[in-house]
Amino acid sequence: PSMDASKKVDLKIIIIGALGVGKTSLLHQYVHKTFYEDYRTTLGASILTKVIAVDNTLLKMQIWDTGGQERFRSMVSTFYKGSDGCILAFDVTDRESFESLDNWRDDFLEKVIPRDHDFPMVVLGNKIDLCDRQVSKEIASAWCKEKDIPYFEVSAKNNINVAQAFETLAKQALTTV
Ligand code: GDP
Ligand code: MG
Repeated sequence: PSMDASKKVDLKIIIIGALGVGKTSLLHQYVHKTFYEDYRTTLGASILTKVIAVDNTLLKMQIWDTGGQERFRSMVSTFYKGSDGCILAFDVTDRESFESLDNWRDDFLEKVIPRDHDFPMVVLGNKIDLCDRQVSKEIASAWCKEKDIPYFEVSAKNNINVAQAFETLAKQALTTV
């Protein structure tokens, strides 16, 4: 049988959000199916690549992860350029990380010059394996609904919903490139 992947598409995806919400962990869970308790922060962006097939298209996702500059949003924003999709991540056990989503989203949209107003984005509420939640599913869903962004409750640790979230974004981005 011939593999009829008639198209190949490169997508630049960026994952942003407060320090410690689990961005690096989510990315490694998605790409390498591993979870480590501790990722050493390196300055600068690191890029992991994952190829998936969607319909007749091979999607090569280059996912950009920021390495520890999250306290300085202006440093992170140097990596925004040319993005086709954006993952906004927060930690459901950290209310502040949720409250900062507005700023992350606005900063991103302001700097990326979106091709249209509904730029491909998803929100990931991470660490749902923990029990000391500070942000309910209802609150997070309501915020996302208002902004018209799909919401996923995920755990990088237990690999819950991670691939679904990344692939929803990839498919959304595919329709705009
Ligand atoms: P980043 O700063 O957003 O890249 O966050 P990291 O990926 O470095 O994760 C920060 C901390 O949260 C680390 O100690 C991780 O092991 C932990 N962590 C990440 N994801 C999860 C998760 O889904 N569940 C739990 N319990 N801990 C997580
Ligand atoms: Mg990190």
